[in-house]
Amino acid sequence: MIPSILPTYSRAPLKFVKGEGSWLIEADGRRYLDMGSGIAVTLLGHANPTLVDALTSQANSLWHVSNLYEIPGQVELADRLVDATFADTVFFTNSGTEACELAVKMARKYHYEKDQPERVDIIAFEGCFHGRSSAAIAASGAEKMVKGFGPLLPGFTQVPFGDIDAVSAASTESSAAIIVEPVQGEGGIVSLPDESLKALRQICDDTGMLLILDEVQCGMGRTGRLFAHERVGIAPDIMMIAKGIGGGFPLGAVLATEGAASGMTVGTHGSTYGGSPLAMAVGNAVMKTVADKTFLAEVNRKAGLLRQRLEGLVAEHSDVFEGVRGEGLMLGVKCRMPNADVVKAGFEAGIITVPAGDNVVRLLPALTISDEEIAEAMARLDRAAKATKAA
Ligand SMILES: *Cc1c(COP(=O)(O)O)cnc(C)c1O
Repeated sequence: MIPSILPTYSRAPLKFVKGEGSWLIEADGRRYLDMGSGIAVTLLGHANPTLVDALTSQANSLWHVSNLYEIPGQVELADRLVDATFADTVFFTNSGTEACELAVKMARKYHYEKDQPERVDIIAFEGCFHGRSSAAIAASGAEKMVKGFGPLLPGFTQVPFGDIDAVSAASTESSAAIIVEPVQGEGGIVSLPDESLKALRQICDDTGMLLILDEVQCGMGRTGRLFAHERVGIAPDIMMIAKGIGGGFPLGAVLATEGAASGMTVGTHGSTYGGSPLAMAVGNAVMKTVADKTFLAEVNRKAGLLRQRLEGLVAEHSDVFEGVRGEGLMLGVKCRMPNADVVKAGFEAGIITVPAGDNVVRLLPALTISDEEIAEAMARLDRAAKATKAA
């Protein structure tokens, strides 16, 4: 018999009833160090007092109004994002996949309005993840995402991640945009080399394609910069964000330049819930905290500490682990044993990690994790590694 919850997830037998900073707690009081953050979502930890305060005070005054009316919190957060980035304009969504939908629509509309309606094709990369909507799964092209869900939304091709020659070869007169994660998350914490990101920008400049960056997972301070692409000194035309920006409240956004957004006029897009007063209260509190040099400097310091400790641990357990990859507090440990076994042993040792593609275990702690918690995480991962070996 089908369970009352549609069985699309294989769930671990963990039932958390409370969160506190970097910790998740079960009903019997058992505490787990959370190095997954609900997959890079609870950016400032669980039950962060600033966010709780922002959410509850908004909840006491106004939850929801339609986008038919002005929402002051949207203007405030959009201004913050515009001030801090390449973008001139912002649309708020509830999720990453909704941001993907709009990014694709925006790119196609841009070319349509330029009297190039044939330019509809989007070049994406193998191993990418942009969400679960029809556009996002078509962008992925991976069999496990698309099988049985045809006919797929047309107009997507995939080339090997970071392969610039393949991008050039795939670029045609009907190409509209390139969509890419500066650091692939689900694909296994794989950074796009700086030179490749620069080259993609150049190809877009040369061909008139738009560059869409998906910073849903790697954005919002996770890599030690507000947005991951800043390390390269290039700017996209369109950027998707979600996950961390809401700190656990459903919130995403599409950021764009004035030019890229020029086709999105009144009536061309909308959302019932996107940019609700509740979401904006939390988003503004998150952005206020993260878009701060001192905060980001502290993220980088802790990232250095975690990286160094993790490299040591991986060297000690070279029969379980192969190496560390990633940037900032978005780290992946490539495993020699099945990553699912390591994650499971972690549960036993009281640490939450997240599996990813390419047999990687992801560490995506709250950016507010303390030095003591980093040390504790390493002690617990050490136990997990020993248990994986013994099993
Ligand atoms: C999680 C994720 C998405 C999809 O976001 P949802 O909020 O789950 O729809 C898109 N892109 C990237 C890079 C992600 O990590």
